[in-house]
Amino acid sequence: MIEDKNQERTQLSDLGEFGLIDHLTKNFELKQKSTIKGIGDDAAVLNFKNKSVVVTTDLLVEGVHFDLSYVPLKHLGCKAVVVNLSDVYAMNATASQITVSIAVSNRFPLEALEALYAGIETAAKIYNVDVIGGDTTSSNTGLLISVTAIGEVDVDQQVYRDGAKPNDLLVVSGDLGGAYMGLQILEREKEVYKVNPNNQPDLEPYSYIVERQLKPEARKDVVQLLQDLEVKPTSMIDISDGLSSEILHLCKQSGVGCDLFENKIPLDPQVISTCEEFNIDSTTVALNGGEDYELLFTISQEDYPKIKANPSLTVIGYIREKEAGIHLVTRAETKIELKAQGWRNFND
Ligand code: ADP
Ligand code: MG
Repeated sequence: MIEDKNQERTQLSDLGEFGLIDHLTKNFELKQKSTIKGIGDDAAVLNFKNKSVVVTTDLLVEGVHFDLSYVPLKHLGCKAVVVNLSDVYAMNATASQITVSIAVSNRFPLEALEALYAGIETAAKIYNVDVIGGDTTSSNTGLLISVTAIGEVDVDQQVYRDGAKPNDLLVVSGDLGGAYMGLQILEREKEVYKVNPNNQPDLEPYSYIVERQLKPEARKDVVQLLQDLEVKPTSMIDISDGLSSEILHLCKQSGVGCDLFENKIPLDPQVISTCEEFNIDSTTVALNGGEDYELLFTISQEDYPKIKANPSLTVIGYIREKEAGIHLVTRAETKIELKAQGWRNFND
């Protein structure tokens, strides 16, 4: 954690804007057939032939979306890319290119930006996307990162939020609540560190949830899996704000109701034990925690046999007529109306 005082510090002004851009982007290779021209001209050029093109963008602001006292810059670079790719996958699309724009204050040395770009490069490699451009400017207030992701999808395979139908099944990938509980651990250790900087935190018992917070993954594999299983979801969204809020988005846009079954919500044992330690209800964490970047989607019941044996996918609910409303069915079999609580600020 926290900055190493012995690190080398090269002033950004030593390189100048163009030198900096060249330095940061020199390792990027182009691999996608659709990339005709990448970094270095006035604009990148792409050609997707007869596919639909999806575009999505996110802006991350220091102090609002990340805290550099416990987020290593390399992880931040990776996460900035991953959160965007997650949005592309939620369209049932393949991600192919990203642009990366940064605003940076001169308190950052070159080495900090190298770490950020190492993370961007790692993510670009893992998810096989080309970095095709961006913008670089200075800031007075800290670090801002904006990533735009571009993807492609066959016209008849694109999936929106608004296609869920009564009797469909609600399905989620992976498990929920980990990223939020990881954040609780990091916040707690930051306070401990403030009191005694020699106190090195032992994060080992929390490794899974801390990684869920610092190193989230986008579910490219789930899009591929659904394609292999020949399942086209009727609607889909990625879980960035919390299960509750995403279910409400799907249902409202589709004009349907839903029963979500509390006892079906997938939770990792480390989430359950950490919730006990913090005395927080694990269902509340799964519903409102956010940043899990899992995919939430609906499928027609006839596709159920194709997904039922898959360990990455869990059926957690049942889509109903709009008039039935949107409810959590608790373990005690009582029904509670789902509300988008979200305990994060409105900027998210
Ligand atoms: P312009 O003046 O036309 O905006 P720039 O000098 O800002 O051009 O950028 C030169 C090239 O470098 C462009 O291809 C641009 O997309 C790319 N680029 C600029 N900043 C970044 C960055 N932070 N990351 C990746 N590519 C960048
Ligand atoms: Mg520019």
